[in-house]
Amino acid sequence: MVEADLLVGADGIHSTVRGLVFGEEREHLRYLGFHTAAFGFEDPEIHAQVADQFCLTDTVGRQVGCYGLRDGQVAVFTVHRTPDPTLPDDARAALRREYGSLGWIVPRALAACPPPEEVYYDQVAQIELPSWSRGRVTLVGDACYAVSLLAGQGASLGIAGAYVLAEHLARAGSITTALERYERALRPVAAEKQQVARNGVRWFVPDSPRQLWVRRAALRLARLPGFDRYVAGVLAGKSTAVVTQLTESARSLDHTTP
Ligand SMILES: Cc1cc2nc3c(=O)[nH]c(=O)nc-3n(C[C@H](O)[C@H](O)[C@H](O)COP(=O)(O)OP(=O)(O)OC[C@H]3O[C@@H](n4cnc5c(N)ncnc54)[C@H](O)[C@@H]3O)c2cc1C
Repeated sequence: MVEADLLVGADGIHSTVRGLVFGEEREHLRYLGFHTAAFGFEDPEIHAQVADQFCLTDTVGRQVGCYGLRDGQVAVFTVHRTPDPTLPDDARAALRREYGSLGWIVPRALAACPPPEEVYYDQVAQIELPSWSRGRVTLVGDACYAVSLLAGQGASLGIAGAYVLAEHLARAGSITTALERYERALRPVAAEKQQVARNGVRWFVPDSPRQLWVRRAALRLARLPGFDRYVAGVLAGKSTAVVTQLTESARSLDHTTP
């Protein structure tokens, strides 16, 4: 038995704390229509090809990304469209089936794919909760506002959420007030990133040859000064210095709240 003033659930998109306190996952999980997977493998030749770069296939409906890690491994991530959220029994077999016809380094990556139990495989989804706290239990990160890998900002938002929560806990007079301020400050940022991810789905994984062509053209144009900001806005949403802004808002709350 542990006695504590506050329980913080930072246990990811399939949060057990959320399930125990806020209700079943299916009430809060929004499936975005994709499966994703990730794994690592060793191949010095491929590592040399992709080191210091994030390389993606230029394909319709599915995408494989590769980059070289500092320890010499090649990290692979995959994402493909499917209306069925049901996960396969054998992740490796599913990956070989889904991506087996792609070229480039994909056949070598699939051949080196580790056993299914060592492959990360999940739905691409977001989490939406009417409230992030209940009594003395609160959530942070993917557990309460997963934006999905389509937003590319989930890790930063998790860290920002922990920072903002800690900041308010340190400053507010009571835990209840701190939890309210934490959610008030961060919820609009998380909601905007979730919306951007949903809007940007077809940019991330084009759904037709035409869309693929448009993406290629946009990426070429993105090299032009001025247009780069537009493309970044479409893909990442409003430019935010999240922690700085939220820290400032925490400070201003301190000054305005008696
Ligand atoms: C393929 C892929 C690529 C991504 N790429 C990016 C990217 O490029 N940039 C980006 O910002 N985000 C990316 N994301 C999203 C990012 O990974 C998440 O948003 C982020 O990791 C969420 O952090 P978190 O701490 O909330 O949850 P997690 O990182 O999921 O951490 C939760 C932790 O809780 C632990 N845990 C769960 N249950 C229990 C339990 N009962 N007891 C003890 N521990 C428990 C888990 O083991 C885990 O360590 C990607 C996600 C995926 C799937």
